[in-house]
Amino acid sequence: MNRLVVVSNRVADLTKGAQAGGLAVGLADSLRERGGVWMGWDGQSLKYEEQPEPRIRKAGEVTQATIPLTDQDYAEYYLGFANSVLWPLFHYRLDLVEYKTAFLEGYRRVNAKFANALLSVLRPDDVIWIHDYHLIPLAAELRQRGCKQRIGFFLHIPFPPPEILAAVPRHRWLVECLMEFDVIGFQTLTDRGNLQHYVEDHLGCEIQEDGRIKLGEREVIAGCYPIGIDVESFVEMAEKPNDEVQIETHRRDILGRRQIIGVDRLDYTKGLPDRLRAFARLLELYPEMRKSVALMQIATPTREEVEAYVDIRKELEALSGEINGRFADFNWTPVRYIHGTVPRDALAALYRASQVGFVTPLRDGMNLVAKEYVAAQSMDNPGVLVLSKFAGAAEDLHEALIVNPYDVDDMARNLCRALTMPMEERQERQKALMQRIRERDARHWLNTFMSALEKGETQETT
Ligand code: UDP
Repeated sequence: MNRLVVVSNRVADLTKGAQAGGLAVGLADSLRERGGVWMGWDGQSLKYEEQPEPRIRKAGEVTQATIPLTDQDYAEYYLGFANSVLWPLFHYRLDLVEYKTAFLEGYRRVNAKFANALLSVLRPDDVIWIHDYHLIPLAAELRQRGCKQRIGFFLHIPFPPPEILAAVPRHRWLVECLMEFDVIGFQTLTDRGNLQHYVEDHLGCEIQEDGRIKLGEREVIAGCYPIGIDVESFVEMAEKPNDEVQIETHRRDILGRRQIIGVDRLDYTKGLPDRLRAFARLLELYPEMRKSVALMQIATPTREEVEAYVDIRKELEALSGEINGRFADFNWTPVRYIHGTVPRDALAALYRASQVGFVTPLRDGMNLVAKEYVAAQSMDNPGVLVLSKFAGAAEDLHEALIVNPYDVDDMARNLCRALTMPMEERQERQKALMQRIRERDARHWLNTFMSALEKGETQETT
């Protein structure tokens, strides 16, 4: 087996249980299994400009190589091009794109730094797997430096349709950079279809029957590899009693109350304001639900230097205050809004203690919280997943109650349906969902992507 070299913007701390973010969780789960090298930014900024040497550390079977970035890199590459241009644009939010020429320059500069640093750790028979929108030009930078190894790319976020992508300056260059990879992986068939449309229309590529994209002499595999979770370890965490959660659950049981849970990074793509409005609508439309159900929303701080994130935080704090002001009673608080990070083992227990998992992003690459909620349920008395049709996970999890995250009434009706669903139907749905997430777990994601990268297998032939 070739040595696997993974590159992503940040490298997660493999010694810690809590990783907020689907990429960190998915990669940490996969790399622990196979071992290899993981390279990325160390999360620190510097004041001076120089080509950084990677810092090497061992964590079990994984060697971590990290580099620092300068303050200017952080502002232009990370906050700028990655998170003020590509992130909103790839999530179909043209209204939130803020473009500056310096952002693009910073993006290219940092990708060149990553390429230089990576060259110092690469061996000739390595396979390289690059992750996410921060590093689209990295294969092109590596090829310019003579790198001959096979290089794959996985996009954790959605890939937009050509007419949206065309709003970003240098969109053609971005896609040409993508075509320097040997394998490009997407979360969903929709995302892959969007790339295929773009390359046919703008680059004159041919899509072959087995799904390969032909560009002149080059052939690139573009496949759909939905990311999964380590189901068994999640089941184990959910089954382990967490004392604090248990005490709280008993209290709720005695009072005959149910809990709806939402867990998200505090991001404008997650549909949080309309989620809170949908909960308020539930209390309006079905007064019998008052005092018998509460919403716990965990909102993990993220990218707080980007203005759009400050706005969404203010909006949510105001909204949860407003709903509580309107409906709360001396012994019942309808919305429990938690602005913080919760370790995954505590999350697992909280999912299990909640009768509804409420996952309503406006657009999401996959959404691992949806899969984790399913994994945490007990077959004896499972909860119900209410899931946005715009989450990548909805392409797979048909037995969830699928909702339109823009339609507050639709979400409120489905919350009511979830809370009143008979046991037999809940168990049937849970069984089917559990089977699906077991089939497509973290290991399956790694194996199918690696078959394409190492053996050149397309999905149509596997
Ligand atoms: N997460 C966590 N603690 C928190 C909030 C989130 O450990 O307080 C984890 C969560 O369990 C999930 C991941 O962060 O594994 C979020 O991934 P998802 O794909 O749902 O969304 P992303 O943040 O990648 O957009």
